[in-house]
Amino acid sequence: RAKKAGPGTVCFFEEADDKASRDRKALQADLAGAVARDELFLVFQPFLDLDDNRITGFEALLRWQHPSRGLVPPSEFIPIAEETGLIHEIGEWVIRRACATLAHWPEDIRVAVNFSAAQFHSAGILQTIVQALADAKVAPHRLEIEITESMLLSKYGSAASILNALLQLGATVALDDFGTGFSSLTYLRKLPFSRIKIDQSFIRDMLVQPDCAAIVKSVISLARDLQIGVVAEGVETADQLEYLRQFSCDEVQGYLIGRPVSAVDVLALLETRKFRAIYAA
Ligand code: C2E
Ligand code: MG
Ligand code: MG
Ligand code: MG
Repeated sequence: RAKKAGPGTVCFFEEADDKASRDRKALQADLAGAVARDELFLVFQPFLDLDDNRITGFEALLRWQHPSRGLVPPSEFIPIAEETGLIHEIGEWVIRRACATLAHWPEDIRVAVNFSAAQFHSAGILQTIVQALADAKVAPHRLEIEITESMLLSKYGSAASILNALLQLGATVALDDFGTGFSSLTYLRKLPFSRIKIDQSFIRDMLVQPDCAAIVKSVISLARDLQIGVVAEGVETADQLEYLRQFSCDEVQGYLIGRPVSAVDVLALLETRKFRAIYAA
């Protein structure tokens, strides 16, 4: 270790390590107070139904406005929240805020909330969801929980019972980032998902890699045969959209349709309802 090295010994790597770990500790400490200081907020990204070019709902995406670092992306602070256990407090805040926001939206609009593994498997999670829905006075079927395949792998049994409980409650569950984990068709057969979200990496490469196109096409038809909804994530170009339309994908999401926006902007977006003619094909 650096401390044991003699005087005058320079050890850049460990200094860099120390700096990184100090940085991480600082971020951890800051994150611990982020909820109380009201530094977290949600942005919402629309789902567009390709049958009628109507917005059917929004995915809530978490943001952290750090007082000195500026906007910290979830890819940086969610892992810290998971390691420290802060994910429970933060996750509860997300559910409550998403439901409270949903209460201001039309009845036929849903909100989708991302869950971490630890959160999904925690004991009080159902009660938290029930309470958030009740406090916001929104119907359970308007709330969708997004989980990933990796959450099913190790704790399949408990995942199945949580999923069934959510379904009984009336909420729905979507399988996020489909195709990136250990995708098992058994999950689709045995677990009550209402929707599959095809990972954006497949959509990105679909027009240049025939094997990607084949996978996207197959997953869409599989979902249809299983009577599960299917969403394509990360749609960025009109060509991709056209392709997905040809494959009869139910819904699309991505920068082409809309970037994540504030709750205020959601209301403005909903006023138009029908999307611009460019998407109408
Ligand atoms: P995700 O749930 O798969 O969300 C999709 C991510 O792709 C979002 O990044 C979104 O902004 C981004 N995206 C949407 N459309 C496009 C597109 O057309 N092109 C590209 N390149 N990207 C697009 P974001 O908001 O940075 O979130 C990253 C991940 O962080 C999410 O992936 C989710 O796993 C996690 N996350 C976000 N919010 C929460 C939360 O409240 N709780 C938990 N546990 N995780 C969250
Ligand atoms: Mg998601
Ligand atoms: Mg995703
Ligand atoms: Mg449809």
